[in-house]
Amino acid sequence: MDSLKFHHDPEENYSYSHMANPLDPEEFRRQGHIMIDFIADYYKNIEKYPVRSQVQPGYLRKSLPESAPLHPEAIETILRDVHDHIVPGITHWQSPSYFAYFPSSGSIAGFLGEMLSTGFNVVGFNWMSSPAATELENIVMDWLGDMLQLPKSLLFSGNGGGVLQGTTCEAIVCTMAAARDQILSRIGRDNIGRLVVYGSDQTHSALQKASQIVGINPNNFRAIKTTKSTEFALSPELLRLIICSDVEKGLVPLFLCATVGTTSTTSIDPLGELCDVAKDYGMWVHVDAAYAGSACICPEFRHLIEGVEGANSFSFNAHKWFFTTLDCCCLWVKNPSALIDSLSTNPEFLKNKASDSKKVVDYKDWQIALSRRFRALKLWLVLRSYGVVNLRNFLRSHVNMAEVFEKLVEENKRFEVVVPRKFAMVCFRISPSAISKDPSDDNENVMINEVNCKLLEAINASGNVYMTHAVVGGIFVLRCAIGATLTKGKHIVMAWKEVQGHADAVLRMYQSF
Ligand SMILES: *Cc1c(COP(=O)(O)O)cnc(C)c1O
Repeated sequence: MDSLKFHHDPEENYSYSHMANPLDPEEFRRQGHIMIDFIADYYKNIEKYPVRSQVQPGYLRKSLPESAPLHPEAIETILRDVHDHIVPGITHWQSPSYFAYFPSSGSIAGFLGEMLSTGFNVVGFNWMSSPAATELENIVMDWLGDMLQLPKSLLFSGNGGGVLQGTTCEAIVCTMAAARDQILSRIGRDNIGRLVVYGSDQTHSALQKASQIVGINPNNFRAIKTTKSTEFALSPELLRLIICSDVEKGLVPLFLCATVGTTSTTSIDPLGELCDVAKDYGMWVHVDAAYAGSACICPEFRHLIEGVEGANSFSFNAHKWFFTTLDCCCLWVKNPSALIDSLSTNPEFLKNKASDSKKVVDYKDWQIALSRRFRALKLWLVLRSYGVVNLRNFLRSHVNMAEVFEKLVEENKRFEVVVPRKFAMVCFRISPSAISKDPSDDNENVMINEVNCKLLEAINASGNVYMTHAVVGGIFVLRCAIGATLTKGKHIVMAWKEVQGHADAVLRMYQSF
């Protein structure tokens, strides 16, 4: 019936000649230019939009038709709807006044690399399916590993190797599965219920998710307590105590996730000492440097991953603070065959001479899915377009701006920096003494947190800047994470003015009670 209707449609006479082929090169050129212009204008005008989207849940269904169109629509029409209906529901991660979560620092090179990769649209599951996809990934991972001064044992040029995953969550699932199968092949598959996973109470929830997926008994997941006095770093002594007590109970230590740059406060776990403890128990150590790994290409930050040579794997997200579009998690492992043993399959339809020769990497065996994107291309474009020197300087400029913001907070008696800044993120709040006459009283703490929570909500409702929060050691902190590529010094000054203005209003409200 529908096809009949389509046949008699008056719009049939409209010229959609390119519909004969959805990949018509000339039409691609025309629409592609329109799209680039649209995105360039978006970046140019990005400061006109509220940073955090102000829409209410369900807003979009009210504006869009109830079903997909039967007939073609022009790109111009579609982009008008993007402008009218989609952009209001966008939280502008590329805005220079975006300071929430962690940055997703975009760049021309990252964008163009993504575009090129999408243009080729290859599915590089094994070497044969697009040799360049695998070989470029091998090369870029060694380049990056050298930039981070990772030990040779984690690089292809040693006996390890790197792979691009979508996200840190996937990287941890894969390494934990490898660790699990390595141990279970020694002690027997039916011992899975005895395996224990360790992290701190600051470790990203990705670790817990991975444990759930990999089949770890939920009672054997340890989030070891950290404290403000040690800047929320995982204590090697405490780790050892807890492992000892687990071993006494007949449990088997499996996996430790150490973090460089935790999500709440960018705390740094002491890698060297933690790896020493783990070594005594034969555990797999993964280093999660999702955010802060980028900074370690600067010599002045490299010491923060000292001790990484004792770890089994290391990952960081190039899609956070490294000018590469989502998604792009860089993972290196010391023993790729552990990954492969756990994740490989060998179906008939993928058999080929190159794989049989064992002279190539088949990345399908290093990840969860079979299909995979040509992500190395965008990383390669980023590295080549900017060069190591500029990449370091971009990162340093963000760190410098964070230093400025930190100083502004410190110089204002009403505010305090809650945890010393390590990279380009400042954790701060209105000082207890500005809110309460007796800040040491525990009941007062609730109010202190409430005032800071109100402050954050007021800041974000303004639409002028966007920051998010964390609760650490019972303290509600505002996080100002600097790293959006368009951010300049003036945006930091403006952000601080915004914070102060709202603090005036919020404090007045409380003091009038
Ligand atoms: C962002 C972040 C993650 C999660 O990264 P995904 O790529 O989204 O899985 C994990 N760990 C840390 C420390 C992070 O900051």
